[in-house]
Amino acid sequence: MNEALIIADKPLILHRHPRRKNETLQAWDSADEYLINHFNENELGKYVAEDGQLLIINDGFGALSCYFNDIERTVVSDSFLSVSSIKLNMQRNHCTPETLLIQDSLQELPTNAKVVLIKVPKTLAFLEYQLQQLSAVIDKDTIIVAAGKVDAIHKSTLALFEKYIGTTKTSLAKKKSRLIFSLPDQNEIPETEVAITWEIERLEWKIHNHANVFSRNHLDIGGRYLMDNLPEGDFTKVVDLGCGNGVVGMAAAEAYPEAQITFIDESYMAVDSARINMLKNFEEERSDNTRFVVNNGLVGFKARSYDLILCNPPFHQQHTITDHIAWSMFNDAHFCLAINGELVIVGNRHLDYQDKLDRIFGNCELIAENKKFVVLRAVKYD
Ligand code: SAM
Repeated sequence: MNEALIIADKPLILHRHPRRKNETLQAWDSADEYLINHFNENELGKYVAEDGQLLIINDGFGALSCYFNDIERTVVSDSFLSVSSIKLNMQRNHCTPETLLIQDSLQELPTNAKVVLIKVPKTLAFLEYQLQQLSAVIDKDTIIVAAGKVDAIHKSTLALFEKYIGTTKTSLAKKKSRLIFSLPDQNEIPETEVAITWEIERLEWKIHNHANVFSRNHLDIGGRYLMDNLPEGDFTKVVDLGCGNGVVGMAAAEAYPEAQITFIDESYMAVDSARINMLKNFEEERSDNTRFVVNNGLVGFKARSYDLILCNPPFHQQHTITDHIAWSMFNDAHFCLAINGELVIVGNRHLDYQDKLDRIFGNCELIAENKKFVVLRAVKYD
C-alpha cells in the first residue's frame, strides 16, 4: 500500500490512525490531491494575507493539514480519529505545530479565513450545518473550494452550497473526484436549525441530535433492540461504547439506577448530544453519575474496570465500510471488563459478530434475535 503522497515535489508519509497490520487503505484520496493541485495551480496561497488564514474543513487523515504546513491554518473536524491522524501525521512529517489550530465541529469558526478548503462530508445535514456556520464568517472575497468523490456529490449537495454560500459550479471529474467552486454572493442566508429533536414516546424522552449524529432522524432499530434486551444484574460501572445520541446508555441509566454510566464516541457531536440528552431527560442527581468521553473506543482506559459494556458497533469509518472498528471495540471491551463482566452487543444477523466474540472471549451467548438483528453476550472469565 502506498504511503507516500508526492505533490509538486513535496513528499509526505501518511498513515491512517489507528494503524492496522496489513492496511490496504491510503490515508488520502484523489479529492485531497485535486484540492492541493488546484490550490497550487491558482496560487491561492497569495490570498492568505498576513492577517488571514487557510481554513480546512473535514481533513480525513491529515493530508491537507500536513501539506499546507507553511501556511497559518485552522482545521475543523467532528472525528477524534481524524484529529488523532492529523496530529500523528504532522509529527511524522516534522510539521510545525505552531501554524495549525485544530478545532472540533461544535466550536465557532475563525473569522479571518481567506481561503476555505472543504472535504464534502458523508451526510447532507452535517454539510448543511457546516455551510451555515461558514456563511456567518466569510465575506464576498473569501475563496471556497470543496472536493469529494463524484458519487458523493449530488444535486442536493450543490443546492446547499447555493443556499448558504452562493453561485456554485463544479469542475470536470479527475480520478473519480470533483471540485466545487462556490462564490459568496448569496445575500439572503436562511437560518435553519440543523440539530433536531424527536421523542421516544414510550419513555417520554426528548432526544436531541446534533447534525452529525448517527441515526439523527429517528431511533436506530438496532439500538432500540439493544435497549429492549438489556441484561439483568446489579451493574455498577457501565459503558455505552459508540454512544451516538446516547439512547442505549440512557436505557442503562434507567435499568441500573445506581450505576455510573460512561458514554463514549469518537464524534464530538455525538458525545455532546448524549450529554444534552441525559441532562434533559433525567433528574440532576442521576445525570451527575455519568461521564462523557470523546475517544477511540476504550483506548487508554484501565484494565478490569467495568462490569457491563453495551455496544451497537459502527460498520464504517468515514466513507469506507469496515468491521475493523467493531473488532477493536470488542478487544478493548475484553481488556476493560472486570472478571465476570459482560459485553452485550447488537448487530445485523449477517455480520457474524458471534464468531468474533467467541474468538476474543472464548464464549458467546445469543440473548435475543429477530429477523434482522441479534443481541449477543460475551462474559470475561480470564
Ligand atoms: N449507540 C447509538 C445507537 O445505538 O443509536 C449509535 C450506534 S452507531 C451504529 C455506532 C457509533 O459508534 C457512532 O455514533 C459512531 O460515531 C461511533 N464510533 C465509530 N467509531 C468509533 C470509535 N473508534 N470509537 C468510539 N466510537 C466510535
